[in-house]
Amino acid sequence: MANTQYPESYYAASANAVPPRPVLQDDVETDVCVIGAGYTGLSSALFLLENGFRVTVLEAAKVGFGASGRNGGQIVNSYSRDIDVIERTVGPKQAQLLGEMAFEGGRIIRERVARYNIQCDLKDGGVFAALSAKQMGHLESQKRLWERFGHTQLELMDQRRIREVVGCDQYVGGMLDMSGGHIHPLNLALGEAAAVESLGGTIYEQSPAVRIERGANPVVHTPQGKVRARFIIVAGNAYLGNLVPELAAKSMPCGTQVITTEPLGDELAKALLPQDYCVEDCNYLLDYYRLTADKRLIFGGGVVYGARDPANIEAIIRPKMLKAFPQLKDVKIDYAWTGNFLLTLSRLPQVGRLGDNIYYSQGCSGHGVTYTHLAGKVLAEALRGQAERFDAFADLPHYPFPGGQLLRTPFAALGAWYYGLRDKFGM
Ligand SMILES: Cc1cc2nc3c(=O)[nH]c(=O)nc-3n(C[C@H](O)[C@H](O)[C@H](O)COP(=O)(O)OP(=O)(O)OC[C@H]3O[C@@H](n4cnc5c(N)ncnc54)[C@H](O)[C@@H]3O)c2cc1C
Repeated sequence: MANTQYPESYYAASANAVPPRPVLQDDVETDVCVIGAGYTGLSSALFLLENGFRVTVLEAAKVGFGASGRNGGQIVNSYSRDIDVIERTVGPKQAQLLGEMAFEGGRIIRERVARYNIQCDLKDGGVFAALSAKQMGHLESQKRLWERFGHTQLELMDQRRIREVVGCDQYVGGMLDMSGGHIHPLNLALGEAAAVESLGGTIYEQSPAVRIERGANPVVHTPQGKVRARFIIVAGNAYLGNLVPELAAKSMPCGTQVITTEPLGDELAKALLPQDYCVEDCNYLLDYYRLTADKRLIFGGGVVYGARDPANIEAIIRPKMLKAFPQLKDVKIDYAWTGNFLLTLSRLPQVGRLGDNIYYSQGCSGHGVTYTHLAGKVLAEALRGQAERFDAFADLPHYPFPGGQLLRTPFAALGAWYYGLRDKFGM
C-alpha cells in the first residue's frame, strides 16, 4: 500500500488526539489475528475481547485509514439490497434471520458510543428522500416489508413533511428512520480502537499483513514480524489487494467522493437541515449529505469503478450539491477527498470461512457503517461456536464479475451508466 497517511479530509483535520501505536517487530502469539483496523476489524476485536479472546489487530496504515475514516458518516440501517430481493434469492428462513438483523448495526454503534464514552458527534435521524413518485412508491413498499421483520419505527413523509426536515425543493416525499443518524466516522473508529486497547487488545499500525501461512496453526507475516493465531479475521475490505486471492474475483473496489463546505453558520445550516438529520436520495447513484458538529455541509456522491482517484473531486461533487442547495453557490469548499468501498455483484456482503480458521467479511457495497458493526458481532459469535447468524450471511451466493478482474471495471461502469440514465429520466 503506497500511501499510509490519512487523506486531507475534514475528519483527519478534526480527529480526536490519539497515542502513537507501535509497528509489529516481533513474533507474537494470540487467539485471533484481525487484519484491518476499520469498523469490521475493530468491531470484531471488541466483541471478541468482551468474550475473553486475546486479540491482535494488524493495520497496514492507521486506524480508520480506509472507508471507516472517510465515509459520509451516515448510520444507514439494512443492506445495499432490498430484503424482498434477498428473500427471493435465499428463501424465507434465511431472509427472516437477515431481516431481523438489518437494524442491529445502528443499535451496536449507539451501545458502543455509550459504553466506551466515544466522542463522535452522534446524532439521531436519517432521511431517505424520493425524487419521483416511483421512488416514493418504492419507499412505501420498503416500509411495509420492514414492518414484516419487526422494524416499525419508520415514518413516511409527504412533500410538505419532508420540506420541514430538508430545505430542498427536489423531493416529492421520503421516509424518516430515527434509528438512523450520523457520526464523525474517524472519531468513531478511533474511539473503538481505544476501547479495544482498554480491554487488553493490541493494535499495530504501519504493519501490513503481507502473507498468510495457512494450516492448523496459521501465521500472519508482516514486513518485520509475525502473528501466530488460532483464528484469523480478514477485514481489509477494498484496501486488501490480493492478500487472499479467492476473495478478489467476486468483489471490486470502487471510489466515492466527499466534499465539505466551510462552516455555514447556525442560520444557513438550520435552513438546510432544521433537525440535523442526515439525508440520502433514492437514486441508484445516490447523493448523501449531512451537517457536521461545526455546521459545515458534508456532501457525497458518485462512484468511480475500479477505485481510480479522480483528478478534481470538487468539480464532480459541487454541481450535485448546488442542484440540491443552490443557495450554497458562494460557499467555499474546505475539504475534498475520495475513499474506496467494495462492491459485489449482488451488492450483498461477502462473508465466509477459508478452511476452519480463517474468517472474512467484506463487500457490503456502499452502506457499511451499520453492517460492519453487526459483522463484528456475528464473526465473534461464529468463533465462539454459535454460527447460525454468521452462516445466514455466509450462505448468500456470490458470483465473479463478468469479464473477470480485467474487464469487470468497464462492465460495472456500463451497468451504472444504465442505472444512472434510469435515475435521470425517473424510470
Ligand atoms: C467516501 C465514502 C463514503 C461512504 N459513506 C457511507 C455512509 O455515509 N454510510 C454508510 O453506511 N457507508 C458509507 N460508506 C461505506 C463504509 O464506510 C464502509 O462500508 C465501511 O467503512 C467498511 O469498513 P471496513 O472495516 O470493512 O473497511 P475499511 O474501513 O476500508 O477498513 C479496512 C482496513 O484494512 C486495512 N488493510 C487492508 N489490507 C490490509 C493488510 N494487508 N494488512 C493490514 N491492514 C490492511 C486498511 O488500511 C483499512 O484501514 C462510504 C464509503 C466511502 C469510501
